[in-house]
Amino acid sequence: MHLIFLGSPGSGKSTQAKRLAQKLHLLHISTGDILRDAIKNQTSLGLLAKTFIDIGELVPDDIMLRLIKEELTRERKGFIFDGFPRTLAQAEGLEKIISDLGINISRVINLAVPDELIIERLASRRICRNCGQEYNLITRPPKVNSICERCGSEVYQRPDDDPDVIKNRLAVYHQKTRPIEDFYRTRGLLTEINGSGNFDEVFDSISEVVAG
Ligand code: AMP
Repeated sequence: MHLIFLGSPGSGKSTQAKRLAQKLHLLHISTGDILRDAIKNQTSLGLLAKTFIDIGELVPDDIMLRLIKEELTRERKGFIFDGFPRTLAQAEGLEKIISDLGINISRVINLAVPDELIIERLASRRICRNCGQEYNLITRPPKVNSICERCGSEVYQRPDDDPDVIKNRLAVYHQKTRPIEDFYRTRGLLTEINGSGNFDEVFDSISEVVAG
């Protein structure tokens, strides 16, 4: 099975994708996580990516397509793409890469959440610096302030979750990523799911669609 999760930043797609990947034994490929790891390890990719991520802009398409091609050539298991593709050029590039590898996309899940809710969610989102566990200061704060309950490391706010950067990320999403919805809709692959409900409800809806 080869799935793509679309949705704005803060739509909950990463948390849902991780859980579904675990349930279905699929590889979870998050380009945001790959780029953040590269930044942490100060690789040349990381140094370059940071200049875009910090201001809420997208990393250039040719870099992202090269990165995905490497991932897919190495790994032949089923996958869930989380945060990729993010532009029409990436969607078209991906089509070429997977057709060369004999892979078909099984379904594209689009998690729809209104912008007002996204801004609220992202401004209160906190993440463990070490294991990536997500918290929310309003709905799920860590039991001890700023300490991860899973691994004891520091819980922090992503620099790109700053309110000004969030506004830009949403603008970029509407301008560059939303056109992908039509790309997959015309191929009969897109299913839209309301991502505003609670985590378990949304997960059940996704699981139903994927079970087909
Ligand atoms: P995410 O964790 O998916 O919200 O990604 C964080 C940031 O990484 C985004 O705001 C972009 O700057 C960058 N990024 C992640 N995936 C992509 C992609 N497919 N294309 C371009 N930039 C990306």
